[in-house]
Formats: sequence, structure tokens, C-alpha cells
Amino acid sequence: MCAHGPITADKSPRVEEQETNEASGLPRHFEEALKELGSAIASKKVEPICTSYMALRRAGHAMPLHEFVSHIESAHGPTAHAVVISAFSHRKCFMCEDGGIVCQTCHGSGQVDRFMCPQCDGMGLRPCTFCLGTSWNDPNEVPGELRKGVFRRQVAHVEKDAARLSKLPDASKLKSAGSFSPAKRGQVVSWLVRLRARLNSLTGSPMDSEANRVVRYEALIRRIDGILEALVPAHAAPLDEDDEDEI
Ligand SMILES: [Zn+2]
Ligand SMILES: [Zn+2]
Repeated sequence: MCAHGPITADKSPRVEEQETNEASGLPRHFEEALKELGSAIASKKVEPICTSYMALRRAGHAMPLHEFVSHIESAHGPTAHAVVISAFSHRKCFMCEDGGIVCQTCHGSGQVDRFMCPQCDGMGLRPCTFCLGTSWNDPNEVPGELRKGVFRRQVAHVEKDAARLSKLPDASKLKSAGSFSPAKRGQVVSWLVRLRARLNSLTGSPMDSEANRVVRYEALIRRIDGILEALVPAHAAPLDEDDEDEI
């Protein structure tokens, strides 16, 4: 009953120090944490799922992993553990919005007095130094038993996202057409910078053993660099919004 009671020579197992539900044989604090996780899963919200999983993990720290997972799945269904993995794969960096910090000098436009912003080199943003631009939560904060699964999910997110690259016009067309409004351009740049950071992070991950993926991601990074170069003038040239007046 009292967790701070005297340590006795009693040989009963450790869990007996906590109140146990006689019907299930589980410590009550574990059951409570399990219930919390259930409500979090039902809410489908990333943060509550991650924090309640961490609490459950602390409550069941002495349990073998397979037993721990089977408690989760028998309480909340066979996909419950996969939902937890998915939540961690979507967990956000606490220090930024979407991986980029809007440049304070040009307020994201990439230019100052019609010239390239010297602060951000025309990008309009700088990658968050905390998540290195991925907008993902620190991989070291993902519990060890989930890391492989989270890595696979993140690969899947990135693959899906990278497929959108093929819908963009070629770098050469982008450069000549000036096809984006400044707002749209900012969105595209921010998306590309984040995707690039994610590709980079996944290829550098100790989880990654697939040489093919590394080669493919490096090719994608080069394509992104080409597009970014077309979208972000590397020299002091006025951007699209002024072109209308000049032509
Ligand atoms: Zn700037
Ligand atoms: Zn960040």
C-alpha cells in the first residue's frame, strides 16, 4: 500500500510492493497507465500517445518486452503498438514549426530592398538547429524498442513526400518561368528544405543498412538542390514579384 514502507526481508517479488489487481495480477499503477494510453490512442493525438506510452514504460520497466507489448495489444487491440510507433514517427520538434525558423531580417521573403537577404542567402528561413530542419523530435528520445519501427515509418513518410518532387517543373523551367508567387515560393522552399533535411537524417541513421536507399536519397538531395538553386537566386537579382513591373 505505502510505497515508502520499510524494506523488509520479505522475499515476495518486487511488484508486490505495489497494489495489485487480483483479477489481472497486474500492478494497479501499470493498469492505470495502460488505461491512460488507451484514452490517448482513442484521441489519435500524437503528444498524448507518446507521453502516456513513456509513463506506461516507466510503470512496466521490469517487464519483459514481449509481455509489455502483449499487455498493450490485449488491452487496446492488435494495432495498438503500431499506433504508438506511428505517433512517435510523427512527433514534432519542440523548438520549431515545420523544421524552419523564418528569417527575422527579410521575414521569409528572401529579399531586402529587392536584393538577396544577406542573413539567409535568399532562403527566407534557416533550418532549426535543434532538429536540423527535419521538424522531427530528437531520435534519441524515441524509446529503444520503437526505434526500428519509427525509422521504417519515417522512411515511408519521406518516400511519399519525395514522390511529390516529380510534380514540380524542372529546375531550368522554374528559373525562367518565375512560376511561383513569393508566398508559394516560400512554401515550396520550406517544404524542400525540410524534405532535404529528412532525407539527410535518414541516410545518416544508424538504422539504415540499405545501400540502395542511400544512393537514391543522395540523388533526390541533388535534385532538391537544383530546384532550390532555381528558386533561390544565388545572386543579387530581383525576385519574381518585381518582374511583372519590369517586363
Ligand atoms: Zn532573410
Ligand atoms: Zn526543430
